[in-house]
Amino acid sequence: MMNLRKELDQRGMAKVGEELHRFAADLYPICRSITGDGIRRTMAMIQARIPLQLSEVPTGTPVFDWTVPKEWNIRDAYIASSDGKRVADFRTCNLHVLNYSTPVHATMSLSELKPHLFTIPEHPDWVPYRTSYYKESWGFCLPHHQMLALEDGDYEVCIDSTLDDGHLTYGECYLPGQSTDEVLISCHACHPSLANDNLSGLTVATSLAQFLSGRDLRYSYRFLFIPGTIGAITWLARNRETVGHIRHGLVLTCIGDAGGFHYKKSRRGNAEIDRAAACVLNHCGESAETAEFSPYGYDERQYCSPGFNLPVGCLMRSIWGSCPEYHTSADDLDFIRPLQLAGSLRVCTAIVDVLENNRRYRNLSPYGEPQLGRRNLYCSTGGDTIATDINGRLWVLNFSDGEHSLLDIAERSGLSFSLISEAADLLYQNGLLSVVPDDGGGEKTLDEPTHDTLQHS
Ligand SMILES: [Zn+2]
Repeated sequence: MMNLRKELDQRGMAKVGEELHRFAADLYPICRSITGDGIRRTMAMIQARIPLQLSEVPTGTPVFDWTVPKEWNIRDAYIASSDGKRVADFRTCNLHVLNYSTPVHATMSLSELKPHLFTIPEHPDWVPYRTSYYKESWGFCLPHHQMLALEDGDYEVCIDSTLDDGHLTYGECYLPGQSTDEVLISCHACHPSLANDNLSGLTVATSLAQFLSGRDLRYSYRFLFIPGTIGAITWLARNRETVGHIRHGLVLTCIGDAGGFHYKKSRRGNAEIDRAAACVLNHCGESAETAEFSPYGYDERQYCSPGFNLPVGCLMRSIWGSCPEYHTSADDLDFIRPLQLAGSLRVCTAIVDVLENNRRYRNLSPYGEPQLGRRNLYCSTGGDTIATDINGRLWVLNFSDGEHSLLDIAERSGLSFSLISEAADLLYQNGLLSVVPDDGGGEKTLDEPTHDTLQHS
C-alpha cells in the first residue's frame, strides 16, 4: 500500500521545506511573463529536476476564442532624472516595468510620464505588479512615496524590450502509471519576481513530480507548467481529444504563505478530488476550509469551463487577492515559508495517497463480526477504550459491502483516510476482504494471508 505522506514525514518537514524554499529562491530573480526567455529559463531549471517535455506554440495560433500572442522579451528598463540617476530600475526589481511593455526610449516631462506610472497608495513602500498582455502599452510600477518625491522636470524613459512574432512556451511532465487515466497537476509559471503567486505552486509541483517518478503508480500523472489563462487555454485546445483521460486534477497556487489551507472545489462539486482534498484537509493538523466552485480564480477556470467541466479543484493557502501582498513586491521570499511549503507538499502527497488507494472491498465474512481476537487483530494498543485502529477495522469490515469505497468509509466514520486505508490493507492481508475491481471483473483475494503483517499493524 502506498503511503507517500508517511514517507515524506520521515524525510523531516524542516529539511523538505528548506529544499523547496531554496528552489524558489533560485527561480525568484527571473523576469517571467506569459511568453519569452524568462519562462524558458524557468522551464530549463524545472527540467534539471524532472523529465519535462517543452512545447513552443507559434504567435498567431488560434486557440478556441483566443490567439497566441506575440512573444515578449526584455533586457533593461529605467526612468532616469535629468542628472542621469535611475529613479526606477528594472535591474534592481523586475516588477518596476509593466509586464509586456512595448519598447520606448524618449525624454518627457513628469506630467507626460505620470499616466504611465502605477503605485499602491495604501502601501507606499511596495511596488505593484501590473501587466498589459492584450493591449499594447508601456509603463512603470514604483513605490507610491517614490512617485510623490519625483520633481518636475524632464525624464529619460527607456524600455529595452521586444514584442515580436515568436512562441508561447509551456512544459509538461508525464509519469505513466498502470492506467491511462490521469491525474492532472497544473500551476502557472508566468509571474516575474513573485514568490507565493507562482513560485510556491511551481516548486511544490516539481517536488511532487520528483517524489512520484519511478514509482509503480495506479494512475498516470501529468504535471503542467504553463502561463496562466492563455497557457491553459492553449494546452486544452491542443489536447481536446485526450482530456477525457483526466480523472482527477488540482491547480496549485499560493501555497507557501503563513495562512491556513483553502480548497476550492471543481465545478462538479462532488468529484472524487473534491472529496479527497476535503478529507485530507480535515485531518492535516492545520486550519483548512473548503469552498464551492466559482468561475473566477486561476486555471481551474479553464479546466472547469462548461465545454470541458473537468474534475479539477484548486488548492491554496490564503485566498488569492485576500491579502494585501498579492501582486506586489511584498510577495517575496520572506512571504513564503519553508514549513508552509513543506506542509503543502505533505497535503498533496496525502491527496495522492487517497487517489491511489481508494477502492472498494468486500467483507468475506459478513454474517456477524469476524473474530478479530483469534487473528490477533483485536489488540488495543492504548488504555481500556477501543483503540482507534480497531475502530477503523470495524468500520472497514462493516461497510465493505462492495458498494462503499474507502473514501466513503473515511467520510462516514470521521476517521482519517490513511487510518481506514491501513485497516483495509491489514484486513486484506489477513484474508478478510476481497478487492472489488473498478471494471466489474472478478474479485481479487489474497491467496495466502501473510501473518508477518500483523506485527507492524
Ligand atoms: Zn497572479
